[in-house]
Amino acid sequence: MNLILIAAPAAGKGTLASMLNEKYGLICISAGELLRGVDPTTELGKKIREIQSRRELVDDSITNELMKQRLMQDDIKNGFILDGYPRRMAQVEAVTEMMKELNLKIDKAILMNIDYETGLKRTIGRRICPNCKKTYNVLTGVNTPKVENMCDDCNVELTLRNDDNEETYKAGYATFMQNCPAVIEYYKNRNMLIELDATGSADDTMRQLENILKEVKND
Ligand SMILES: [Zn+2]
Repeated sequence: MNLILIAAPAAGKGTLASMLNEKYGLICISAGELLRGVDPTTELGKKIREIQSRRELVDDSITNELMKQRLMQDDIKNGFILDGYPRRMAQVEAVTEMMKELNLKIDKAILMNIDYETGLKRTIGRRICPNCKKTYNVLTGVNTPKVENMCDDCNVELTLRNDDNEETYKAGYATFMQNCPAVIEYYKNRNMLIELDATGSADDTMRQLENILKEVKND
């Protein structure tokens, strides 16, 4: 099965992708990781890092090409998940074209719904143990550290990631709201969209998805 994950910031996309990888062996292909994975000593690598250091978006043509190269590898034959791509209509068109060319097919696009407030709490409440990298949240009531601001395992003070602030979240959310409705509409019109309520735990979101996929199979 080949899936696309569409999610607002802090909806838990990475977690769901790794659960799908563990349980079903689906290979997660993240646009961000592909970009970070380009050798920084090459021309392309230098160009990508330069664009990202200005906090600008990398050209679709670069992302599309990296994506295509990745999809030509053999390990995706048992199924893959596209994570963080396609985000815009131009990328949707590129994916559709790519699938034809490579003789592949996207089965479902999964939309992980989360409201602004819940996403914000998840983001600004997130704390990380600098030692074991375990993540906590001090606002949502899920994964609360046992002792205030301390790692349960290491007894080390928790830290906040630079990007986990309201401004970054707000900007990411605005970009999502600007680009995603058209993408969602596209997959909905093709009867490919699965909508999940991602405001609960990761296990809960996974359960919803598995139930829907079961129904799809039985149809
Ligand atoms: Zn720790």
